[in-house]
Amino acid sequence: MARHDISAATTARLAEPVPFWINGEAVRSARTVPLHNPANGQVFATVHAGTASDVDRAVGAARAAFVNPAWAEMNAAVRARILWRLADLVEAHATELAELETLCMGKPILAAMQMEVPFFAETFRYFAGWCTKIAGTSAALSFPVGDLHGMTLQEPVGVVGMILPWNGPLVIAGWKIAPALATGCTCVIKPAEATPLSLLRFAELAKQAGVPDGVINIVTGSGAEVGSAIARHADIDKLAFTGSTGTGRGLVHDAADTNLKKLTLELGGKSPVLVFEDADLDAAVDGAIDAIFGNSGQVCVAGSRLYLHASIREAFVAKLVSKAEALRVGDPLDHQTQLGPIASQSHREAIHRRVEAGVAAGAVLLCGGRTSQGAGSYYPPTILDVADQSSALVQDEIFGPVLCIATFDTEQQAVALANGTRYGLAASVWTSQVDRAFRVSRSLHCGIVWVNAHNIPDLGTPIGGYGQSGWGRELGQLGLLEYLQSKSVMFKISPAPVPAGSV
Ligand code: NDP
Repeated sequence: MARHDISAATTARLAEPVPFWINGEAVRSARTVPLHNPANGQVFATVHAGTASDVDRAVGAARAAFVNPAWAEMNAAVRARILWRLADLVEAHATELAELETLCMGKPILAAMQMEVPFFAETFRYFAGWCTKIAGTSAALSFPVGDLHGMTLQEPVGVVGMILPWNGPLVIAGWKIAPALATGCTCVIKPAEATPLSLLRFAELAKQAGVPDGVINIVTGSGAEVGSAIARHADIDKLAFTGSTGTGRGLVHDAADTNLKKLTLELGGKSPVLVFEDADLDAAVDGAIDAIFGNSGQVCVAGSRLYLHASIREAFVAKLVSKAEALRVGDPLDHQTQLGPIASQSHREAIHRRVEAGVAAGAVLLCGGRTSQGAGSYYPPTILDVADQSSALVQDEIFGPVLCIATFDTEQQAVALANGTRYGLAASVWTSQVDRAFRVSRSLHCGIVWVNAHNIPDLGTPIGGYGQSGWGRELGQLGLLEYLQSKSVMFKISPAPVPAGSV
């Protein structure tokens, strides 16, 4: 069985406490924090932790870079080339970046190398294309007050604070950093405390690609100190956040209490997978497995609620459970592994507590639901039959490999069940009828619907939430616009002077 050996470059990098990054330079602080490998519970590295005063310094560097002509007046085509070069450098260092992801959060190494890192690199190429296409409008005026010409300019929003989660440390950072760079913004970034290493390596690559100092600043540390200092900083113009709804709600208060900074909030969900009786059932079983068990369920759009037409329930569940039980859970450095550990022991315990509480309240366990012995924070693929739609298992985000199943008889019932939570991030519809696919997609209350697929991201297709899944969109043109603000310019045009002597 092939097992990945950590490269010499990564081993050397982790031999000393890893510094954070302000104004194009490595910063070491008085305090270091140990990082635990979720595969075995051992400390594998330490990282320097920042403070509120480091955030202040990073914001100062980002503000100076924002107005520095080297960045502010950089030709858009030159900026595009830098983003493209950055994507090439990310790919050239894919192994190192993937290893850092796997060590920090337990993502299987092949998924990190074949999906996370290439998708991250491609995000910079996608937004590189936008650099030269940012354009305002020229408007015909609607009020008869004289000869005027109106136009709009699209300008960068300014210094952007970014607060990131641990489940896709590079990918979710890329959705924010790439449009920020494409539009000429500058960044102060806080990675999750447990997963900062890949992004810190990325900062060095950005400098190598030609991103000017101060454009990307990364301050490591806790949400309570560093995250809060970013959220409450009066010289940050916009905050882009991915994480829990509770933290997101607090950030709204922080923005309101300080400088009304603009907010984009990506807050997770409880996404339904609807399988109709006319679907290709084998494809739907595979799709439902990928939807919930990819990245051990630690995905904002994970398909954590499965609604089956009553007529297919028995056959579908039999196949689903047998495939779930056959998934290989284990060492994330092993190439055969399909589910690595949960990102931390505490998160695994939180998942298990929710499953136990659900079973105590009447849910029926179909597979999984046990914690393993040993030091790694592994959790098996878990499927529960949950008839009660009001159950916490159905209503609350668990963010782990836990799937709840229920049945429906009619299309209307399916839509009502799917829409029956406070979230609205994503959904999938499995059917062979085009009319039904259209009808149901239109009725679902969420930011993205896949038909006969689930969680296939695309850089040109925006993602974001309805309801309590968030504010704003990431990716696509809408994702770019979140980093721009529109300025209208009105020209009053004087009549041409009458030449002397003319009648
Ligand atoms: P959090 O919302 O707590 O963390 C996300 C980020 O916010 C982290 O960088 C965290 O810092 C930071 N943060 C925490 N508190 C504050 C604060 N008061 N001010 C500013 N920043 C703060 O999510 P968790 O990591 O605790 O995960 C809990 C749940 O959130 C998950 O179980 C899942 O339901 C959801 N989640 C959803 C994600 C998604 O992709 N939509 C991603 C991650 C989580 P730090 O953790 O370093 O202290």
